[in-house]
Order: sequence, then structure tokens, then C-alpha cells
Amino acid sequence: MRILLIEDDALLGDGIRAALKLAGYAVDWLRDGEHGQMALKTEAFAACVLDLGLPRRDGLSLLRELRAQGNPIPVLIITARDALEDRVAGLDAGADDYLIKPFDLPELHARLRALLRRATHTGVSLLQHGDVCLDPSTRQVTLHGQPISLSAKEYALLYELLGHPNAIRSRAELEDGLYAWGEEAASNTIEVYIHHLRKKLGNSYIETVRGLGYRLGSTP
Ligand code: CA
Repeated sequence: MRILLIEDDALLGDGIRAALKLAGYAVDWLRDGEHGQMALKTEAFAACVLDLGLPRRDGLSLLRELRAQGNPIPVLIITARDALEDRVAGLDAGADDYLIKPFDLPELHARLRALLRRATHTGVSLLQHGDVCLDPSTRQVTLHGQPISLSAKEYALLYELLGHPNAIRSRAELEDGLYAWGEEAASNTIEVYIHHLRKKLGNSYIETVRGLGYRLGSTP
């Protein structure tokens, strides 16, 4: 899952990026509002973590424009402004949630998980296909009801596939969900992770559609 982080504080931005990366997200980090706005126009992200006090374009006006254009991306505001009216302004501008600085990174991760869960699956917390079940709130995956262990990238790839259970996903689309800018995927990484997932979930669980990509196998 790709997350856009817009934060001008170097230390905080670095900490957030590292923590979310460790949790298996692909994180693109921009340091000013104008670049953030451009990225939101041209790229698809699962969610945006947005600072309010930003150089070149402040977070609130960016958010207002985003919503005016009908962009539904989940937005989590992080702000040092803890006055009630600022929080209200953030929510009124279209934020889905907010955190007041300083905050603990596990809390940021938990809020983000909740946001993604609400946004992608409208209340349905479990993703299921065949005998495989993925719970985004705990990041636990089970096969026939038994927990199985996946690496962060394997989990991210499975999440991408389960999010569109009937679609054929091209390698480029899957890579987009797994890697941030400048994080170059070796040319065969998706194949390698697919191979790992098939070993864990069964060969027919993921089908190769020649020349197009991958999709989940039909279930009995
Ligand atoms: Ca700031």
C-alpha cells in the first residue's frame, strides 16, 4: 500500500517514513504543499498523512482543494496546532482524522490502519477469498483458519490482490502498491513474491494471466 506523507520537519518525517516502511507500506515523502498537491493529482495513494504548517502551500488549503475536486483519498492530519478551532477547521476541510504533535508512532499506525479499513472496505474488516482470510486491523492472515506468516511485502502483495478479487492486476499496478518513488523494484520481484505466496497458499491460489498479469484463482 502506498502512502503519501507531506511533512516539512526532517526529523519527524524521517521517523514516520521509517516506522511505516517497517510496517510494510510504501511511503513517498514530500516536504512542501505544492509538491504534495501535484503528487496527489498525478498518482494514486491509499492514504495521505498531511502536516498543516507547510512551506509554499499550507495543508488546510491543499485539503480543501483536494475535496473540492472530489478526491476521496483518506487524509490523516498531523498538526502542532492543538486549538479546538484548528482541529475543527481540519475536519471541516475534509480530513478523516487528526493527530496532535507530539504523538507516538504506533498510534499513527493504528489511526492509519483504521482509516484504510474504513475507506477501502466500508466497514467490512476481513478480506476473504477461498480459504484465505486477511484481517487488516491485526495484519493477520489465515489459511483454513490457521495463522500463516508472511513477510511485509508478501502481505502487501496479498492485500493488493484481495482488494480487487476479480480483477487482473498487471505487474506495474502491483509494483505501484508495493514500492515508493526511487525504491526500484528488481525486474522480477513481483514474480518472486507471487512464487512465495503460492508456496504458502497453494499453487492455484494465484493465477498467471499470460501477457496481462495476475488474478486470484477461482474458488470451489
Ligand atoms: Ca510543519
